[in-house]
Amino acid sequence: MAEPLFRRLALLGIGLIGSSIARVAKERGGIANEIVANARTERSLVRARELGIADRVELDPRRAVEGADCVILCAPVGAFADLAGIIAPHLAPDSILTDVGSTKQSVIRDVGPFVPAGVHFVPAHPLAGTEHSGPDAGFASLFEGRWTLLTPPPGTDEAAVERIAELWRRCGSMVEVMEPGHHDRVLAIVSHLPHLIAFTICGTADDLADETRQEVLRFAASGFRDFTRIAASDPTMWRDIFLNNREALLEMLARFTEDAQAMARAVRWGDAAYIEDKVERGRKIRRSLIELKQA
Ligand code: NAP
Repeated sequence: MAEPLFRRLALLGIGLIGSSIARVAKERGGIANEIVANARTERSLVRARELGIADRVELDPRRAVEGADCVILCAPVGAFADLAGIIAPHLAPDSILTDVGSTKQSVIRDVGPFVPAGVHFVPAHPLAGTEHSGPDAGFASLFEGRWTLLTPPPGTDEAAVERIAELWRRCGSMVEVMEPGHHDRVLAIVSHLPHLIAFTICGTADDLADETRQEVLRFAASGFRDFTRIAASDPTMWRDIFLNNREALLEMLARFTEDAQAMARAVRWGDAAYIEDKVERGRKIRRSLIELKQA
C-alpha cells in the first residue's frame, strides 16, 4: 500500500460517513497514520473506540483537530457553522479542511469565512450512503464505485485539491470537480427531491384511516416498501439538507409538481399514450443506470 496521505486525520462526526472513512483507513491503509474521532455524544465515541476505528477519541472538537494535517467535517450540514467557528483557531497551519456534506453552497457560505489563512478548504461530497446512521452503520466498501464531487472555491491550492481527490480515490471513489451551485441543482433532482417525495408519501399513508393504514403495511411490497427504505433516513440530516438547499429543492419540486399534474390529467382523460410514454422513460432511465453500474 502507498504511503499514508496524512499523518493525523480528524473526523468531526463518526456516523455512517465518518466511520466508513475510518474503516477504509483502518482496513486498507494508505489514508492516515492516526485517526482521531469526534462526535456530539460520549456514547458514539465509546462505540468508535470499541469498534477499533479510531486511535483516539475527543469530545472537544478543538482538541480533536489539534495537530491534524487533515480535518473532515462529517456531521449534519446544519452543525457546520458552529463547528467551523469552534475549530478555526485550532487548525494547524498548512492543513486541509474538507467535509462530506450533502449541500455545497451552504457549506462554503457557513465554513468559508472561518477558514484561517494558510489552511486549505476543499469542500467535497461522496455520493454514497444508506438509510442507516451512527458508528455501527459504516463499512469500508461504501464508497466503492461511487462518485465523489469536489467543489473547491476559486483559487484553492491545487495540491490540496489533488490530495483530497486522492483520498477519495483510495476510498474507491471516482472523483469529479464541480461548481457548487451546479452540484446543489444536480443533487436536488437526484437525491433531495426523491427523499422529499418518500417522506411525504409515508406521511400520506400514515394519515390514512386506521383500516387502510393496516393494509398499507400488510401489502407494502407492491411499491410503497421502496419508499419506506428511503424515508427511514436520519431526520436531523435531512432537515438540514432541505433547509440548506432550499432554492434548488423548491425549483425541482415546482417542476415535479407540474409534471405530476400533467400525469393526473392524462389519467383523468384516459390518455393511454401519455402514460405509456412516461413509464417507458422511467424504464429507460433504470436501464441506463444499470449500464453505468450506478443502480
Ligand atoms: P450520522 O450517521 O447521523 O452521523 C452524524 C455524526 O455527526 C455523529 O457522529 C454525530 O454525533 C455527529 N454530530 C456532530 N454534531 C452534530 C449535531 N449538531 N447534530 C447531529 N449530529 C452531530 O450522519 P451521516 O449519514 O454520517 O452524515 C454525515 C454527513 O454526511 C452529513 O453532512 C450528510 O449530509 C453527509 N452525507 C450523508 C450521506 C448519507 O446517505 N447518510 C451521504 C453523503 C453525505 P453523535 O453520534 O454523538 O450524535
